[in-house]
Amino acid sequence: MSNETKSKVVNEVVKANMEYANNFGDKANIPMPPGRKFSILTCMDARLDPAKYAGLAEGDAHVIRNAGGRATDDAIRSLVISYKLLGTREWFVIHHTDCGMLTFTNEIMGDLLSQSLKPATVDENGWHDTGAEDGTNEGRFINWLTISDNEKSVIEDVKRIRENSMVPNDIAIYGYIYDCHTGKLNEISQATEVGRPS
Ligand SMILES: [Zn+2]
Repeated sequence: MSNETKSKVVNEVVKANMEYANNFGDKANIPMPPGRKFSILTCMDARLDPAKYAGLAEGDAHVIRNAGGRATDDAIRSLVISYKLLGTREWFVIHHTDCGMLTFTNEIMGDLLSQSLKPATVDENGWHDTGAEDGTNEGRFINWLTISDNEKSVIEDVKRIRENSMVPNDIAIYGYIYDCHTGKLNEISQATEVGRPS
């Protein structure tokens, strides 16, 4: 495809990457195992940049992201690989204020998807769907792992990881909430307590 037929975003990404690659320096020599031996599980929210909020450079740490930063089976799969094969020894679970996962429930998502597959809209009365085309009931059978209380969700996820039989007792797991208004990480001491190594 020529540049004219590519989307604006594709062109921007390719251009930015070219600049990045031109200044790649000695990054080709970074070893695969994270140099600072830790992992972060956090939300995909576009306002969160773990490299910036936690001071990471290439090669420093593993960052696992999903909607909410939840400790799903797949997140735990990644964490176990991170430890067992790549040597991380400390893990952070970092949720955040104003998370999109606070704005809906399993029922709402199931309803929206049943009305249409197109994007929903949100206003002060909540989420609405255009109903523009056929939807699916598949969304009713998924646990979307929505969040009703930030602190509770962090504690729950640290606990879920801690109690997984593939996770060794000597890994420290810390719970934090990133504040989208200040950029600060606030520790949830009860979560860190649950995640304490033994
Ligand atoms: Zn979020």
